[in-house]
Amino acid sequence: MENAALLQIAQQAEGPVYVYDANRIKAQYERLTNAFSGVNQLRFHYATKALNNISILKYIQSLGAGLDTVSIQEVQLGLAAGFDPSTIIFTPNGVSLNEIEEVAKLGVQINIDNLSILEQFGSKYPEVPVCIRINPHVMAGGNSNISVGHIDSKFGISIHQIPHLLRITENTNMRINGIHMHTGSDILDIDVFLHATEILFETAKNFKNLSFIDFGSGFKVPYTPGDIETNIEELGEKLTEKFNSFCQEYGRELTLAFEPGKFLVSQAGYFLTKVNVVKQTTSTVFAQVDSGFNHLIRPMLYGSHHEIVNISNPDGRERFYSVVGYICETDTFGSNRKIAEISEGEYLAFKNAGAYCQTMASNYNSRYRPAEIFWINNEAHLIRKQENFEDILRNQIELDTAVIKGAAVSA
Ligand SMILES: *Cc1c(COP(=O)(O)O)cnc(C)c1O
Repeated sequence: MENAALLQIAQQAEGPVYVYDANRIKAQYERLTNAFSGVNQLRFHYATKALNNISILKYIQSLGAGLDTVSIQEVQLGLAAGFDPSTIIFTPNGVSLNEIEEVAKLGVQINIDNLSILEQFGSKYPEVPVCIRINPHVMAGGNSNISVGHIDSKFGISIHQIPHLLRITENTNMRINGIHMHTGSDILDIDVFLHATEILFETAKNFKNLSFIDFGSGFKVPYTPGDIETNIEELGEKLTEKFNSFCQEYGRELTLAFEPGKFLVSQAGYFLTKVNVVKQTTSTVFAQVDSGFNHLIRPMLYGSHHEIVNISNPDGRERFYSVVGYICETDTFGSNRKIAEISEGEYLAFKNAGAYCQTMASNYNSRYRPAEIFWINNEAHLIRKQENFEDILRNQIELDTAVIKGAAVSA
């Protein structure tokens, strides 16, 4: 998006605001579909948890994607956005049998990632086809916090447990219609990822009634100019060949599925906030913004890098800043960053703010969660209002003064 458009949105907003560029989402979606155009049956399930605004979901549906969901509430959001249940996959981790049953009743594809629930579900509903999440024990990425395929991971059914898995499916007579893996969040090495897919193909041969194989996600996006990213085109070329020859060996045309979250929405998003204070200390210049980890927690939670630019003074002389928030705890967005000279009252834009930013926002410090803007054809559309004081008190129950006083006396 152009700097001027971002600045105008920032100036008109009541407070910090998220902006998402529709064209960027579309371009990423097209990159994916082009990369895998050699596959006959292809399906992308967008990972709702990355960014769950209903207008974004509707847009992604209009591009032709389905949904990947991890809670019954995400399923309900998807249905509210107009997704057909048959285009939604439910890939939770450690949820109750009851929640899985409720989602299955809605007609959504279930993906089960542990033997205990598999056995219980299969015994009760042998007629409902189920996908299984396999853990191939391959570390595709570098960050152990977001890599979910390794040996100590809580995700998926270990490939070493396939004999037990097969015993369950035979005993219950259930149908396994899909095989799934989601190895981690940042695929840095395509060959490592392809190694994991080989393990999945081997596993798939044990099941005669498959209709799809789902390779999860983990497409890495660049966070700085020149940063490494997953080479989607190369991955597409190599995996397409492997997939097509597997289908031939398997004797049936299967659907190849992916569940991209970050890849579709990360770079489409900007977080805009004003600088309240520029504070010089003996060692650092702090730019203190009108926000904190209540609005964007990724840098503090797992060290993610968000490029920060001064959209009020983009051509100013660059200086070094530590950009911090207003929360009464350490909340550093970026240390020692080279940013065009910042004055109080100017606006900063945080890049890569489309995925796992707004969806992780909270009311910590009794602050409002920010508004969201969808930028479509050079026009700003409000798709979420900033919260207000009523939202802070919503669901709180103010006890009667007599009860409070009574408690104070007895204490
Ligand atoms: C979160 C998640 C994804 C999306 O991961 P990204 O790194 O955002 O692409 C895909 N599949 C499952 C099962 C997930 O939990």
